[in-house]
Amino acid sequence: MSARGRPRGLHLRHGCLSRQQQLRLLNHFISKAPQPTGQPIPSHFTLAVKDNIATTSALHPSPSSDPPPPALAAAAALPTTCASPFLSTYRSPFEATIVAQLRARGARLVGKTNLDEFGMGSHSTHSAFGAVSQQPSQPPQPQPSQPSQPESAASLLSSLLSAGGSSGGSAVAVAAGEADVALGTDTGGSVRLPAAYCGVVGFKPSYGMLSRFGVVPYANSLDTVGLLAGGVGRIRELIVGGGGGEEGGDNQGLWGEWDEKDPTSLSLSARRRCAREREGYYYPRLEQEREVGEVLRTVTFGIPLEYNIEELDPRIRDGWAKVAKTLQHEFGARVVPVSLPSTRHALSAYYVIAPAEASSNLAKYDGIRYGTRDTDSASDAAGGVLYAASRGRGFGDEVKRRILLGSYTLSSEAMDNYFIKAQRVRRLVRRDFDRVFALDNPLHEKETFDLADLDESIAMEDKWGPEEVDFLLCPTAPTLAPKLGDVMNQTPVDAYMNDVFTVPASLAGLPAISIPMPLSETAGDRTRRSDTAGLQLIGQYWDDARLLAVADAIFKTIETTTSTR
Ligand code: GLN
Repeated sequence: MSARGRPRGLHLRHGCLSRQQQLRLLNHFISKAPQPTGQPIPSHFTLAVKDNIATTSALHPSPSSDPPPPALAAAAALPTTCASPFLSTYRSPFEATIVAQLRARGARLVGKTNLDEFGMGSHSTHSAFGAVSQQPSQPPQPQPSQPSQPESAASLLSSLLSAGGSSGGSAVAVAAGEADVALGTDTGGSVRLPAAYCGVVGFKPSYGMLSRFGVVPYANSLDTVGLLAGGVGRIRELIVGGGGGEEGGDNQGLWGEWDEKDPTSLSLSARRRCAREREGYYYPRLEQEREVGEVLRTVTFGIPLEYNIEELDPRIRDGWAKVAKTLQHEFGARVVPVSLPSTRHALSAYYVIAPAEASSNLAKYDGIRYGTRDTDSASDAAGGVLYAASRGRGFGDEVKRRILLGSYTLSSEAMDNYFIKAQRVRRLVRRDFDRVFALDNPLHEKETFDLADLDESIAMEDKWGPEEVDFLLCPTAPTLAPKLGDVMNQTPVDAYMNDVFTVPASLAGLPAISIPMPLSETAGDRTRRSDTAGLQLIGQYWDDARLLAVADAIFKTIETTTSTR
């Protein structure tokens, strides 16, 4: 989609490849639901589901019929593979709560999307089904001496870009116009990063808002279900609801639905208590009718100084500054610098905590209780390890790397130095956020802040009176989508760097959204629209409704106000 929410589509250049062939090259679906035949199926929107989220019947259940018995449903189900060789044929006998919730709101499942195995990765390249890719948003400009060539598979492949990960397939499905909404999972940025690379909107809700029942866990304390769409509006409608009255009327938003099957789903009483302390949950219709200018005028945005890193692409830095200026000068918002000093340790803490939790979660895949058993080489002889061959073959390299990392940092000799320290950093990261947000975090007691923790370069007056802001405004990723070929040659640590701006909100359990930010390039005295990056907004815990309202307002104005100058 473009920043205005129109399908961006594919750049067919009268080439030898049809739209269908080009789409197949992108490899974003692992399985597709059969096309509905006969009577048209009433649906409000089409839905693509990341393949680490359990689905049963691919068919739209008829409202009048009873649900099929579990065994039958499982037989008709699309597999839930997690892009892992271990689960390549697994069909779930039950459906994830979030899928059922969306079906109840009129979703029609179009397919299961490709991802990094178990959600571990940043480019959707670590998949048993091959890498996902996207086409560049601008077709490569032919050189003046070079006549425009028809598209061949080889030339298309060499121009392909990373779709981001791990929910890359979901982002591409939305960008290509094959799904109105897609489900992803966001543990450390896996919805926001692909959204940024593919030019769509990606929303990660507050931890505990959307049920994770039926979502295959990666790192439980960080995992969230996220939504991707071409614009903010539909995500907002789904999360906040559109009805009137205290409880949102008959069009109840997902925020109000507790799931007893998910122990991390926030209780109903806590949901209501949090919502009463926030704007936008009750009487959402009135909120949705507010003018863009009216929404933005009263908001204070914080620019986190620590996000201005050396590796930040200058075009993104420029686009970020332009949006901040526009919000301030044209919409009367307040924009102030803020400091989040512990942010610089967030990435290392994340890459200790997430693999540690993953190593424990994945212990059950042994080919005996879960996953396909390697019967040829399994050894239950004395001295052999029954599950070694199954685990050796069942997991891809990146997953094995994470299991080894996690097992090490949880081992008795390394625990204090890694896991315990990372937990401490996680607390500091959350405390940094709590210090700069005007709203309190309803899940934690207010903590005092030690001024000595702040960087020496920060002026004394800023140390005494940290600005209290509503939202943080920053890029989603330090670079634009890289070429797929380059990504394949990256070291794992280079790939982890892409998550530097997304993991802090994940560690703190905060809501965050990535919206497309159009970039412009100046050549001589002409400025032209060049590419799209992701602009990220982060809010205080459970401030999701207002975050979506503000993101929607920015989304609606950003392209017209920034791309022409
Ligand atoms: N890239 C991050 C990782 O590999 C985030 C993944 C995610 O959010 N699922 O852990």
